[in-house]
Amino acid sequence: MIWALAALLGLVFGSFFNVVIWRVPLHKSISTPPSHCPRCRKPIRPYDNMPVLSWLILRGRCRDCGLPISARYPLVEALTGLLFVAAYARFGYGLLTVKAVVLISMLIITAFIDLDHQILPFGFSVAGLVLGLAGSVAAPPPEIQGALAGAAVGAGFILFAILLWRYLLAGVFRRFGVDQKEGMGFGDLPYAAMIGAFVGLKGLTVALAAAVVFGVVIGLIARSAGRNQRGQPIPFGPFLALGALVGLFFGPQLFDIYVRFAGLQ
Ligand SMILES: [Zn+2]
Repeated sequence: MIWALAALLGLVFGSFFNVVIWRVPLHKSISTPPSHCPRCRKPIRPYDNMPVLSWLILRGRCRDCGLPISARYPLVEALTGLLFVAAYARFGYGLLTVKAVVLISMLIITAFIDLDHQILPFGFSVAGLVLGLAGSVAAPPPEIQGALAGAAVGAGFILFAILLWRYLLAGVFRRFGVDQKEGMGFGDLPYAAMIGAFVGLKGLTVALAAAVVFGVVIGLIARSAGRNQRGQPIPFGPFLALGALVGLFFGPQLFDIYVRFAGLQ
């Protein structure tokens, strides 16, 4: 029963996140006007507004004018449903799941805004940072010390990476004929701090390592597939979001496995 509720909540929230992802960067209200087709302007009927299902029934087209509706809408809804269920499976019935769901929601919204607009909205990151710190007081782990350390190291790492790229790596790459523009910006700084506040120092370490691996692997695939020939910047936010999910679900465990493996303990 609770599983079905978690999935349903995720689908409904995912549907709302689609609206936020689309409208907030354009500074449009998220409540008015109600959802409508961008071409024929007809409002979406309530029974055509069911997450995932309606898109499948309408075969991805507007009921009135046949305009194709992006498959990303049902994908965001399904992804949110899946991650809400995963949060309940991992953290059980309680505040830890609420905290996980808040972080997951932040990550989904911001990652897709970053993909679309190459910005990580500052307001979301700062609100998330505050929520993450409050969450560590209300529902540890991580304890507040770990959350503060995670936030500080997260911001510090991004600052270090930006400076390292700007003053060293970009020049090295250019010498080898690769003109790759930086994909990391100062928007990533409070974003990594938010992630650290939610998952603590161990979780953040795992999240950053995972984000770098995702970034390098997917960046190389994009380059070899010819999708990124001119070295245009690949936004780092979505990789940080992916890494944060790894840190959230498996952070402390992976951290301890690594420490044992490296013989540091
Ligand atoms: Zn239409």
